[in-house]
Amino acid sequence: MKHRSGFVNILGNPNVGKSTMMNRLVGQKLSIITSKAQTTRHRIKGIVNGDDFQIVYSDTPGILNPKYKLQESMMKTVNSALEDADLILYVTDVVEKFDKNSEYLEKIKQLKTPKIIVINKIDLTDSQKLDKLYSRWEELFPNTAIVPLSALNNFNLNNLLDLILEKIPEGPAWFPKDQLTDRFERYFVTEIIREKILLYYSKEIPYSVEVEIEEYIEEKNINRIRALIHVVRESQKGIIIGHKGRMLKKIGTEARKDIEEFTGKKAFIEIYVKVNKEWRDNASKLKNFGY
Ligand code: GDP
Ligand code: MG
Repeated sequence: MKHRSGFVNILGNPNVGKSTMMNRLVGQKLSIITSKAQTTRHRIKGIVNGDDFQIVYSDTPGILNPKYKLQESMMKTVNSALEDADLILYVTDVVEKFDKNSEYLEKIKQLKTPKIIVINKIDLTDSQKLDKLYSRWEELFPNTAIVPLSALNNFNLNNLLDLILEKIPEGPAWFPKDQLTDRFERYFVTEIIREKILLYYSKEIPYSVEVEIEEYIEEKNINRIRALIHVVRESQKGIIIGHKGRMLKKIGTEARKDIEEFTGKKAFIEIYVKVNKEWRDNASKLKNFGY
């Protein structure tokens, strides 16, 4: 039995369901998923192992035109995902305009890296419309596998997996086989808190915050976590905290539940809010946050 392994990078416009799909493929909730664009800022590796294979998935931030430094560094991540893949999963859906970002599609087309086009969210269309859309993608990417599926309904993901296994090269495992992800737990804790912020606040708030873990103490039966939410303006601090601290308390409670589920351990969380004026544009600060 030959062993196969490969880096499989998931690309596509925001909101097409990349994170949902990767989580299905990996089988555990790794990337945070919300209906707001730009939820996924970093590349996340999810690793799936079998006796004779190892697939290393990277989920990427959606494609966008950078408006400020943070987005520039997010796009660098997207571009680096183009370079080191054994296989690219380009994800589109039945909702977005067919050739949205045609320039970027052209770039992907030029790459010699094997590709699979995934048409997601087919639960939202009918077979006639899907046939049409399929043909258009076929025209744009001739000789490329196209897989329609519904990540949400877990429909046709097995076929995608089979195809991925066919297309990744023979090679050894890159990571120990019992390792689910190369990120530390604390990274997921920041992502979970950020997800709650995205869910419970509107307008510019979700895009003005950064979550930092100040302290992460793993005791035998409990994780003790102190997190800082950085905001850009004083007024945002008030909004985040809410009347009598209610909003922040809610965020903390919701995050704690998810963190406990993720780590399989009780958690105690304290969250503070701090004004940090220019974090989005300040390169050295960005570095501190790991961008
Ligand atoms: P990403 O930005 O590409 O990572 O997209 P997400 O995975 O965060 O998903 C964006 C939104 O699309 C979320 O509200 C998902 O629940 C939804 N979504 C993902 N896959 C499907 C699908 O197969 N069908 C439907 N109807 N919605 C989906
Ligand atoms: Mg995502």
